Amino acid sequence: MQVQQTQTTSRDLIERWIVQHVLEGRSDEELEGTMFVYGNEAYTLEQTSQGALSIKEHSVSKVIVFRKKEEADPANMCRACGLDYSSFKEAIECCADVD
Ligand SMILES: [Zn+2]
Repeated sequence: MQVQQTQTTSRDLIERWIVQHVLEGRSDEELEGTMFVYGNEAYTLEQTSQGALSIKEHSVSKVIVFRKKEEADPANMCRACGLDYSSFKEAIECCADVD
């Protein structure tokens, strides 16, 4: 049950990321090959033979992400999905449930 819930969440985040970047004008070719790490799950974007992007899950048991110092200042980045915003307020509101 929980595994399925996690998968739904990570795919939701990836799909949201894709939509955001497509809206920013990125092409499928630019997005292809992007790797997403969500906990111990890893996904890459790959183009299908029909030319559509698909989310491919990789079976890994453990994922460790090392951040370089210069990358470690995600000032206005949503900590949940990694989208960039122009203000810190927008970033923290991104994946927060606003009731
Ligand atoms: Zn977010």
